[in-house]
Amino acid sequence: MADFVCPGGTGAGYPRYAHRPGPERGYANLAVFYEACNFNCLYCQNWHFKLNDRKALVPTQKMLEALKEHVSCICYFGGDPGPQAPHALSFSKKALALRPGKILRICWETNGAENTPIIREMMRLSLATGGCVKIDLKAYSAPVHETLCGVPNQMTLKNFALLAEMARERPEPPALVASTLLVPGYVDEEELEALAGFIAGLSRDIPWSLLAFYPTFYLDDLPTTSRRHAQLALAIARKHGIKRVNLGNRHLLSEAY
Ligand code: SF4
Repeated sequence: MADFVCPGGTGAGYPRYAHRPGPERGYANLAVFYEACNFNCLYCQNWHFKLNDRKALVPTQKMLEALKEHVSCICYFGGDPGPQAPHALSFSKKALALRPGKILRICWETNGAENTPIIREMMRLSLATGGCVKIDLKAYSAPVHETLCGVPNQMTLKNFALLAEMARERPEPPALVASTLLVPGYVDEEELEALAGFIAGLSRDIPWSLLAFYPTFYLDDLPTTSRRHAQLALAIARKHGIKRVNLGNRHLLSEAY
């Protein structure tokens, strides 16, 4: 989640993009969860949707009805919103048309491998509404990424760099956020150095969320992220001068090496 920097979690961008100067209590997020993904990560936390061959189709009208007055942002998840991005873009425009002049942020959590014109359009909507695009940078080196996710990462890295440029247009609240899962034995010191160098090389203002790993799906035989691993990741991020770094899922950290 980007809640450590977003208007809903912190009040950043108040009063233009947030209802309150702090956490937006009393307001709601419309979470749109598409049961689809273009990756097949060994540790997918949402792998159950891959087994569901009778997906429920929710009509757009029903989604619009869920857009109550107290909904202040729409967040698209997955799986990944990429495969259904045309629907998400079209729904966002319909929703915004119903709420002229009101706060309604458009946010995305994605692996960042959309076609470039599509992810550019996603970012344009986020920039205009005070929302953000959070991209999961799962690994920097191609072999590690391909091993973990089954696909190369050139599109993700290329799109992330493009979005970093676009995000300069609206520094606050940050329009682009990175996140990385600290997978033991895979996302190690070398990977973290490369990822931190990549992010910092684009902008040290891009917030980075580091997340402790939980064993699941095909990687259910790994331990959770160790405290030492998390501290190493934080130290690397700071060494590269990344200004806002968050450590998520702290309750999962183990003492083991
Ligand atoms: S990108 Fe996310 S949803 Fe898609 S397979 Fe990987 S972890 Fe699962």
